[in-house]
Amino acid sequence: MDFDAVLIAPRRAASIAAGHWQDRTISDYLAACVRERPDATALTALSIERQQVTRFTWRELARMADRVALGLSRLGIVTGDVVSCQLPNGWHLSVLYLACARLGAVLNPVMPIFRERELSFMLAHAQSKVVVVPKMFRGFDHAHMLRGLRDALPALRHVVAVDGDGGDDDSDSFEALLSGPLWEDDADAAAILLGSRPGPDDVTQLIYTSGTTGEPKGVMHTANTLFSNIVAYAGRLHLTGDDVVLMASPMAHQTGFMYGLMMPVMLGAHAVLQDIWDPARAAALIREQGVTFTMGSTPFLTDLARVVAESGTPVPSLRTFLCAGAPIPGALVERARSALGATIVSAWGMSENGAVTTTLPDDPDTRASTTDGCPLPGVELRVVDGADADLPAGQTGRLLVRACSNFGGYLKRPHLNSTDADGWFDTGDLARLDAHGYLRIAGRSKDVIIRGGENIPVLEVETLLYRHPAVAQVAIVAYPDARLGERACAFVVPRPGQSIDMAGMVDWLRQQKMALQYIPEKLVVRDALPATPAGKIQKFRLREMLLGEDG
Ligand code: ADP
Repeated sequence: MDFDAVLIAPRRAASIAAGHWQDRTISDYLAACVRERPDATALTALSIERQQVTRFTWRELARMADRVALGLSRLGIVTGDVVSCQLPNGWHLSVLYLACARLGAVLNPVMPIFRERELSFMLAHAQSKVVVVPKMFRGFDHAHMLRGLRDALPALRHVVAVDGDGGDDDSDSFEALLSGPLWEDDADAAAILLGSRPGPDDVTQLIYTSGTTGEPKGVMHTANTLFSNIVAYAGRLHLTGDDVVLMASPMAHQTGFMYGLMMPVMLGAHAVLQDIWDPARAAALIREQGVTFTMGSTPFLTDLARVVAESGTPVPSLRTFLCAGAPIPGALVERARSALGATIVSAWGMSENGAVTTTLPDDPDTRASTTDGCPLPGVELRVVDGADADLPAGQTGRLLVRACSNFGGYLKRPHLNSTDADGWFDTGDLARLDAHGYLRIAGRSKDVIIRGGENIPVLEVETLLYRHPAVAQVAIVAYPDARLGERACAFVVPRPGQSIDMAGMVDWLRQQKMALQYIPEKLVVRDALPATPAGKIQKFRLREMLLGEDG
């Protein structure tokens, strides 16, 4: 596949000169771990779904990565091919990425919550050649879903299922094709592994971000863009190879992928992975494994703080919890700090550039409860008005970012890159800076709803509802929720003589086979919606109407 990562080459000389791009790939970091600490624990994966704990030392992890790389090459994967995976957190996902990186293949992790609608778009757009899924996860047969999509995906050669038969017989399982056979003993193994090493500016990861423009956008990253963030992030948080990192937030999102998969390899730190969010199990893992650092969006912090406070059993090893991905209420930060006895670091970031503002672990406590942090080294921020003029501290405007970790562009959608000739990326967030240069996210100019850290592509859901025979007009807006931050409400104007109710709306959206988490949880039926003279629906007034109803 031809990756049009047009934002990489123009930045190279300056990023290298500034020391932000260090030209090291994940394979280089993994090799260093094997050299320096071969028998230390690299990864502990708790699978609640499979009731299993799996451990790898660095030597074992690297060996398994080589084996899976060779298995992928036997399936025809070569440099520049896309391998997609719809895997929960666990060793399969980590190994698959390390294996792809060995071959120069691009890993495209997709969320386990996605269904036919999201996947058929993403896998076609990415021209994935292999897709790896769990046979069953949370009662859903992913292998069956993928088999149903296959005919519409001409580039897709193999559906590989963990723990089962991805195809018509058992031969399409992860175990049979990738992790079982001792491929590394084959005569041609070394030549394959040495023959296809990707460079640090080659696209290594493709991650879809929920569309604000009607369809998901494929964010392309290279080793240099990703590690330039991870190196700075770990440095700021004082993380080293002695840390133990828990990742229960999905590794199919940038946060879990960068800080649960890549960062531990970069540091030589022990990664502890959890597949299904269960705060009591997370607290137990923290105690058992001596976890020192974890990260997640607000529901993870809310839940963990609650179970630790309720159990009365502390988590003394936990030094830092980094919270990002959605607005972070100050009261939650304070409650969590006292319940966990850990430093809470607030941060802001996106799939396009990683977590690029964070508070400092040594900051006064109020910084994490009132701001989303200050820029990491290699990151600059601007808050501008409608005419792109810089605004003074304290005033809210559009947030622009220029970062060494900015992505390479959106796959096949360069016109949407939102990055100007000087490298400023328009984030679609509204923010203000304080006198100390700390950022506070104040809202969004882009139309997404963030439900528990998961972005709902509002336009896409509205488009599907517009196709409902009873719907004349629809607008989806957020309403506040104590645990998830926001949930979605659909305002609908029915066609004359028609009607729609909640059950009808949910049925309709279920039939579209979209992620269940995207379905609005409230429906308000009206004769008309507030609009500007030009006919644009005034969503702010709908949000106010909802608040008025509740209050
Ligand atoms: P991720 O995969 O890391 O969740 P996404 O690209 O899906 O990233 O979502 C990024 C968006 O999440 C941001 O543009 C912003 O709207 C929101 N977000 C992230 N961090 C914060 C924060 N600290 N406060 C408010 N909103 C945030």
